[in-house]
Amino acid sequence: MDITNCQHPNHDSQRIKYVCVDPQCSIPKKIGCADCFLDDHITHIRKTTTQFKDFVNESILQINAIEFQQATNSPQKDLTKEIDGELDNCIECIKLKFNTIKGDLKGQIDNDIIKMQDNCAQFQQNMNNELQPFRTTIKNDLHILNQNEINSLVKFYQEAPKIQKHYNKAVEQIQEEKQKIKQKKQKYLTKMRSIMQILLKDFNELMTTKNVQYDDYCDYETPQKQVMSPNKMINLVETARSSRRFPMSQIQKKQFLSAVTKKLE
Ligand SMILES: [Zn+2]
Ligand SMILES: [Zn+2]
Repeated sequence: MDITNCQHPNHDSQRIKYVCVDPQCSIPKKIGCADCFLDDHITHIRKTTTQFKDFVNESILQINAIEFQQATNSPQKDLTKEIDGELDNCIECIKLKFNTIKGDLKGQIDNDIIKMQDNCAQFQQNMNNELQPFRTTIKNDLHILNQNEINSLVKFYQEAPKIQKHYNKAVEQIQEEKQKIKQKKQKYLTKMRSIMQILLKDFNELMTTKNVQYDDYCDYETPQKQVMSPNKMINLVETARSSRRFPMSQIQKKQFLSAVTKKLE
């Protein structure tokens, strides 16, 4: 006996070929040969056994491919990524602004320092130029020097205290310049600090404002509740369950509703 062939005494052992998929069909025997379908399923929607098996297998694969984990994870992931991006942008902007301010202030200080160093070098060179001839001539015995050299040395002897005073004054002048640069630096630091304090104060005020702390939260919460109310969710689950002929009992329904409500609060 071949089970792939029809067992009906009048159907000539024809091949079992069709499955009835008609939603209106009330015949208990859904599978049969061509004659079975002529007898019982004449106007019904039918599929060949191969088509039927292919469709069922394909449906199992497609339904199985639905990923719940991904559906719940991805908005969270996107949100974190977006917030991180915004924060990075914001920090980058603030950093850039402060670096510009820092660059400006530092540039002015650097200029002053360069000017002061130039002055220093200039004084040093003047002094060297002035002393150099006397350094050379004073090494010799005085009686071998010519008239001019002796006269120059005598002049130097007479003016030495004045020359010394002149260069001491130059050093004082440079010290004063240095002090001024120090004060300028301090002023810039204070300026920078006060800018930061103003920024932080504004920032703190902004963060404690109800607009930022609560309004956004409410805006987010209200549509969320409208989209997926507890009753809507229970209907969704109920539909899925009833199609599998396992409806929820009254107690299960109650428990589910309270669990879902709790989660949405
Ligand atoms: Zn048959
Ligand atoms: Zn039928």
